[in-house]
Amino acid sequence: MNSNKQKGHLYRSMQAITIIPLLILGLVITIFSYQTVESAMHTEVEAELKNITSAVILTYDMLYPGDYKLVGTSSYDLLKGDSVITSDYTIIDRLQAETQIDITIFYQDTRILTTLRDSENMRIIGTGVNKLVVNDVLLTGQPRFYTNTLIYEVQYFAYYAPLRNSDGSIVGMIYAGKPCAQVNAAVRQAVLPIILISLCGMVIVSLITSVYTHRLIASLQKIRSFLSKVSTGNLWEELDADVLQRNDELSEMGYSALYMQRSLRNLVEQDTLTELNNRRFADKRLKQTQMQANIHGTHFVIMIGDIDLFKSINDTYGHECGDLVLKRVSFVLKKNMVGKGFVARWGGEEFLFLYENTDIESIYAEAEKLLNDIRNMSVTYDDQSIKITMTFGLAEGGVNSNIKELLQEADSKLYRGKSQGRNQIVI
Ligand code: GH3
Ligand code: MG
Ligand code: MG
Repeated sequence: MNSNKQKGHLYRSMQAITIIPLLILGLVITIFSYQTVESAMHTEVEAELKNITSAVILTYDMLYPGDYKLVGTSSYDLLKGDSVITSDYTIIDRLQAETQIDITIFYQDTRILTTLRDSENMRIIGTGVNKLVVNDVLLTGQPRFYTNTLIYEVQYFAYYAPLRNSDGSIVGMIYAGKPCAQVNAAVRQAVLPIILISLCGMVIVSLITSVYTHRLIASLQKIRSFLSKVSTGNLWEELDADVLQRNDELSEMGYSALYMQRSLRNLVEQDTLTELNNRRFADKRLKQTQMQANIHGTHFVIMIGDIDLFKSINDTYGHECGDLVLKRVSFVLKKNMVGKGFVARWGGEEFLFLYENTDIESIYAEAEKLLNDIRNMSVTYDDQSIKITMTFGLAEGGVNSNIKELLQEADSKLYRGKSQGRNQIVI
């Protein structure tokens, strides 16, 4: 339970440290690109509206040369030169149809001609412009661009240009406007691909980091579970090959864990002086061999070998020399047993040999070879050459044999060999 929590926690933190910056980056890209596109679009709309106002002024100047003048007392007419232009919407309607831009011609602050209509589809003529525009444009004579002008409950991008007569006096204004909703939709449409691309990038990077993190955590988990099994005494647990194939710090960690397990195994199952397996390990092997024999009906041979008169080596040359002899003898024994069977240090100067799937007759020649190899070796200590001999006792096991009894049998044969003059094999 606790370990699952820890796994989840590590996984979540690793995901968080990669995905949160990604989300922030995505947000920054979105906001930045929206603002950039929006400001570019505003500049473009402003230029477009300005052009329309100039086009309106120019068209009227060309078609109706002369000044603007308001005539009449109750119902007013706007004159341009000698022509009444008040009720002729052809020019502004055509421009509106071509450009989708609304146009209004003001006399002072009052709408005289307009393409703008109210909710009942009536042109909003005769209405006034708000005070801000009067102050900004009519009184100063400067054109002005607004990004948010409310006209009859609709928000517009609006450009107001002053309308002058030939003497330079301001007679009114020309308005060109585009609904904000239309411009904003265009901004959103332009930004959408950028957002989609950055979203795709984020998803791809998130997926890659997620897969990578998952694999990393999985490997860490395998190492952790391996170590926890080793820590509870499972010295034969195998570490998943995936971890060792990673070729990074984690695989190195895996190898270190394996080496640690091997060292522990050696500490528990190996004899430190001779580097042979120890009695504890031999006991385990003997039990396994008996089980195999019971299942498959096979035979096996147990042999106990003991160095002859070893005490006198200790007594004559010292314990250090005795240790050296034990090491050299062990080396010869181990070399002899390669591919034939198993040897362990059974205790003191005694060794246990195990030959599987065989019988005493077949093994006798092997024992003789061992006897001769030991006879022929000599250990040099303090310029003295020490000769060694060993005595061996053998016992054969099979289905339902008893390891304890077999060991006693081999031991009593060894004892017999000792009493018969040592340096021999007793079967
Ligand atoms: P036998 O031929 O009857 O086996 O005579 P032995 O002298 O070999 O047998 P004994 O049992 O009398 O003596 C064994 C000696 O081995 C006694 C013990 O001090 C010595 N010995 C046991 N373990 C070690 C060891 O690790 N190092 C050394 N140097 N001596 C050891
Ligand atoms: Mg001995
Ligand atoms: Mg002994």
